[in-house]
Amino acid sequence: MPDRSFLTWPFFEDRHRDHAARLEAWCARNLPVDHQDVDAACVSLVRKLGEAGFLKASAVDPADPQPLDVRTLCITRETLARHDGLADFAFAMQGLGTGAISLFGTAEQQKWLGKTRTGEALSAFALSEPRSGSDVANMEMTATLDGGDYVLSGEKTWISNGGIADVYTVFARTGEAPGAKGISAFVVPADAPGLSVAERLEVIAPHPLARLAFDDVRVPASALIGKAGDGFKIAMSVLDVFRSTVGAAALGFARRALDETTARAGSRQLFGAPLFDLQMVQGHIADMALDIDAAALLVYRAAWTKDSGAPRVTREAAMAKLFATDKAQDVIDRAVQIHGGDGVRRGHIVESLYREIRALRIYEGASDVQKIVIARQVMGA
Ligand SMILES: Cc1cc2nc3c(=O)[nH]c(=O)nc-3n(C[C@H](O)[C@H](O)[C@H](O)COP(=O)(O)OP(=O)(O)OC[C@H]3O[C@@H](n4cnc5c(N)ncnc54)[C@H](O)[C@@H]3O)c2cc1C
Repeated sequence: MPDRSFLTWPFFEDRHRDHAARLEAWCARNLPVDHQDVDAACVSLVRKLGEAGFLKASAVDPADPQPLDVRTLCITRETLARHDGLADFAFAMQGLGTGAISLFGTAEQQKWLGKTRTGEALSAFALSEPRSGSDVANMEMTATLDGGDYVLSGEKTWISNGGIADVYTVFARTGEAPGAKGISAFVVPADAPGLSVAERLEVIAPHPLARLAFDDVRVPASALIGKAGDGFKIAMSVLDVFRSTVGAAALGFARRALDETTARAGSRQLFGAPLFDLQMVQGHIADMALDIDAAALLVYRAAWTKDSGAPRVTREAAMAKLFATDKAQDVIDRAVQIHGGDGVRRGHIVESLYREIRALRIYEGASDVQKIVIARQVMGA
């Protein structure tokens, strides 16, 4: 049974505990799903999460706009990740893909939220390019004003939900200034002429991922999110909300690894006694539990700080993401070790966690980049 004691911490209210209990019960009935066809599985997961009402937390309700509740986002990601990485991915993308619309969208743009919050539509966040991943401000894709329209031209890569999303938040260079100050954000429907999947990308833990081609994609000026030139700020504001939720997903993977490890250590007989009797195994388990609790404290500190009205949580979110993802990698590695050969057997839960966790240390700001962010915050730079 997973440790749920963290829900009694003062970061949470009863509504969070109720949410966690309802979601846990739903997960027990519905997860894991078959991952053979990741596209179909993702679409189905989004529909089911929407029908059950869990996607409401992923985006602002246009009829009653309240700030996104980061603690609910984190609890949801942690719980889903513990049961099925693809379910966490499906939920996370509904939030990240529409984050800019939730925070800065017009009433017209927010009509998409009515569909993404119910699972009728899938969304995606298109920031990275082949030559600008960490170096976002160096992006090359252009959006040029032509009459009353913007014309988008270039490529985006590593786009989660690429090819299955109904709507994309796309960042492109509009040229108000060089670098970060010349980027804008747009709402682009998937059926816009000129938008196509150039390549499907396969990764060690399969998810729907694509490189997208924008071949003179024409959108009306009303597709611009916020002001022209504010795209970089918008992207950073979205990541400010969602970065700590990546830490929460890592926490879910790590908790699952610990649960599997304690079960294994209790049931596996070695040298005439349970594996758990070996003190070095106890040492591993202690280190795993310690890392998980410390990561949970950082993740929920960041979420609570944001929910308490802090305009930015750059430092807290960077610490949460960095620590939780790096430590989850260690926790899962120890779980593999304690499972022996089974830990690397294809299809074993611990083996799949080992593959699932890796990308979290790269996307939404690699671990190395988070260290720079933290150092600058500490220095007040
Ligand atoms: C599974 C997956 C899903 C993704 N989903 C999306 C998505 O939905 N939308 C989207 O826009 N993008 C997405 N990405 C892209 C992701 O955000 C980028 O991969 C990430 O920003 C790193 O960019 P890059 O791959 O170009 O690596 P690079 O920018 O080439 O960086 C390579 C490495 O260099 C190091 N590094 C980089 N900068 C610094 C620095 N300043 N100091 C020290 N070291 C540094 C880091 O170790 C980094 O991992 C996804 C990526 C993956 C793997």
